[in-house]
Formats: sequence, C-alpha cells, structure tokens
Amino acid sequence: MYREKGASGSKSEVAVFDPKLRINDMLDKRVERSSPSASQAINGQEKSGHSVLLGMTPPDHRDSSFLRTSFADEISETDSDESDVSGSEGDATSWISWFCNLRGNEFFCEVDDDYIQDDFNLCGLSSQVPYYDYALDLILDVESSHGDMITEEQNELFESAAEMLYGLIHARYILTSKGMAAMLDNYKNFDFGRCPRALCYRQPCLPVGLSDIPQASSVKIFCPRCQEIYYPQSKYQENTDGAYFGTTFPHLFLMTYDHLKPQSTSQSYVPRVFGFKIHKT
Ligand SMILES: [Zn+2]
Repeated sequence: MYREKGASGSKSEVAVFDPKLRINDMLDKRVERSSPSASQAINGQEKSGHSVLLGMTPPDHRDSSFLRTSFADEISETDSDESDVSGSEGDATSWISWFCNLRGNEFFCEVDDDYIQDDFNLCGLSSQVPYYDYALDLILDVESSHGDMITEEQNELFESAAEMLYGLIHARYILTSKGMAAMLDNYKNFDFGRCPRALCYRQPCLPVGLSDIPQASSVKIFCPRCQEIYYPQSKYQENTDGAYFGTTFPHLFLMTYDHLKPQSTSQSYVPRVFGFKIHKT
C-alpha cells in the first residue's frame, strides 16, 4: 500500500524521506488554494500524527481537499499570503500546472497532456500505482462519474496516488526530447539549484534519483562539474521521490545538450597547516 495507514508511533517516523510529508504539504497548499478562510480558521490546532478531516462537503472531487493535516507546524505558517493572490486567476489552472507550482515541486516540468493520453507511454504503471484510474482522471482534470460518492478520505488517497502517478510519468517524459527541452528551461532558470562545493563555482545542477523504484530514496542533485550528488537545497524538495526523476535523466540530458557540459574539475581542495600539506600517514 502506498500510504502507511496503520503505522503508529515512532516506527513510521522516517527522518530522511517521508512521502507522507510531501502529500500533506500538497494538501495544505490545496486547502489554501481552494479556501483561504478555511485554512486560517483551523490553523495548527491538531497534534496527532494523522490527517484531520473537516466536515465539509466538497463541491467536486477535484477541489474536495478541505483536509487539514497535522503537519501544520512549519509548513503552513507564512506561505498563505502569497498563494492567496494567485486564487484570483480563477479555476482555469489544470491539475498539472497547479501541482508543478507547489512549493517544493520546482524540479518538475509540466508533462504534455498528449503524452499522458497515449496509453503506450503509461505501459506498466497501472500495476504500480494504486487507484490508477482515479489518479489518471485527477491528473487530466477529467470529471469522475463517481464524484459524489467519494469520501474525503478516499479523495486523500486518490490525491497521493495522482502525485505518484504523475511522478512516474514525469520520469519517463523527461527522457523524451520534448521533456528534456522543458527541463532545459528549468535548468536555465537554476531551478535545480547549484553545487554547494566551493570549487565548482556555483555550477547549476540537475535532479537525479538513486533508484527508479518509487519510495526507495529522495531526489538528489547532480553536479556536472564535480560529478557528485548532493541533497537539494530546500527541505521541501528533499521530500520528493527520486524515482520521479530517475537514474538516467541528468546523464542523458548532458549527452543531448553537449554544449552545457562543463569542463570537469581537476581542482581539489588541499588542506594545509601553516602552509604545509598534511603528510598522509
Ligand atoms: Zn560540483
């Protein structure tokens, strides 16, 4: 099962990578998008480790996330102001662009609808993602015929499944020429961050996964100059699954856009004491 519904106590507290945190962050943001006043009214009261459902009836299954999660601490403190402004844009935003604009999702590009609608591209994913059909409907903004029958709890599961499905589609898409071009835009915007190593002179990085299997590890950034990987700079990005980018992407990207490949550095830092190199003992 994708979510550890029955997990209790400290066992489920994974410090490094907690997909649930990502989902809860996502849900938090959606609450702010759909109902700023609702999110303020219940701000940060919950203490348990599970989501708290509000007793509201959602207008439809897409905007039904009147859910409040208990990770209300640092996640939802100050960001409501800026996101409220974007609410005036109306409901024209697609699920995909909404998702890609969430804080922490800066690494994602928007996958073309055409790509997602081609069954060939989704081959094998239906067995990996729970509630596959619902998740796909969410991503493509298709009104579900079961809209009124879906409970808030189910909707929460579908939302997290949609995130997973989108991530796995994304991992495939960014290996296509169109996807790579979209990621090139992100790269040029320095959306993936820069190498923290001083001797790489703030080289822009690319996202990479250490596994192509979901929930194995979180996303890292790869520096083309020192050929090393690092944790992303934002703690929100740190909770993104590495499988949504995959193990191949940065390397194929640099083969495709050869001119972007920096000279690999031979410069390495040499520790000295009073100007003398330290003898290897
Ligand atoms: Zn580097």
